[in-house]
Amino acid sequence: MRALITGGAGFVGSHLSELLLEQGHEVFILDNLSTGSIANIAHLKAHPAFHYTIDSVDNEPLLAELVDQGDVVFHLAAAVGVKLIVEQPVHTIETNVRGTEVVLKHANKKKKLVLIASTSEVYGKNGAVPFTEEADLVLGPTTKHRWAYACSKAIDEFLALAYWKEKKLPVVIARLFNTVGPRQTGQYGMVIPTFVQQALAGRPITVYGDGTQTRSFTYVGDVVAALAKLAVEPRAVGRVFNIGNPHEITIRELAERVKALTGSSSPIVTIPYEQAYEAGFEDMPRRVPDTTRLRELIGFEPTVQLDEILERVIEYFQKR
Ligand code: UDP
Repeated sequence: MRALITGGAGFVGSHLSELLLEQGHEVFILDNLSTGSIANIAHLKAHPAFHYTIDSVDNEPLLAELVDQGDVVFHLAAAVGVKLIVEQPVHTIETNVRGTEVVLKHANKKKKLVLIASTSEVYGKNGAVPFTEEADLVLGPTTKHRWAYACSKAIDEFLALAYWKEKKLPVVIARLFNTVGPRQTGQYGMVIPTFVQQALAGRPITVYGDGTQTRSFTYVGDVVAALAKLAVEPRAVGRVFNIGNPHEITIRELAERVKALTGSSSPIVTIPYEQAYEAGFEDMPRRVPDTTRLRELIGFEPTVQLDEILERVIEYFQKR
């Protein structure tokens, strides 16, 4: 297939580009390098089936042409990272909503399949883990900017599903749980690259809140393998899928694991949420995916577990 990946120079996008090229597909990426980087795709530039354009999805004539050239769009371009979202709420909402709007509009002209990367953040404060795709989205008030991210992604999902229902545009929604691995940057707040860099530098490892909150981390290679399979599975169209590894760990345990695996002497410190983010910041206590739907459709099983993920991330930062 000829695949367009918006956000293709980002963390997930660059891994997806790599996989699709390995599978023999032709890959076109569009990225404005807002959070992605040329370094992420430097090793792909010489590949004859890899084409990159550094521009924004806001450039509609260009986007229209790129969509037209391809068979499928993986729409990954978005504002991500809780720190970025809290600090730049206008950018977050505008990027996430507008980008999806224009991608769907142009894909609809010739009914090109669109796979939308959404997020487990949409489940918000729902406490009933594990989350199935039909679970309620429980968001906080609009005065707390964190929820703008979940809300903007939920609008993207509604819009994509509306295009399917009303216009028969084939769409697939993938809700990515905390996706981690080499090339993810800690710059926008993500916990694993942050902890690993702190541990390697001998700086304090900063656990926010009391550290009893949990997350389930999924290796980026497992995530992009699932995305690639969903894009060629006709039964996925018009549906929502969790992509995640159900293995759950508290953030304090994660800090201890990183410290042990790096052999670091860094102290583990706790920082109140209001200091780390903003006053009144709300975190979700647990986040675990139910991946039954994905397993039943494409046989999804995570292949890389947490310790191995951490080892790969540690090695990545050591090499840099
Ligand atoms: N976190 C932390 N220290 C950090 C960065 C993040 O304790 O330096 C916590 C954060 O508060 C959250 C969890 O780690 O509870 C995962 O954060 P991340 O930003 O990676 O993803 P989220 O699941 O919040 O989108």
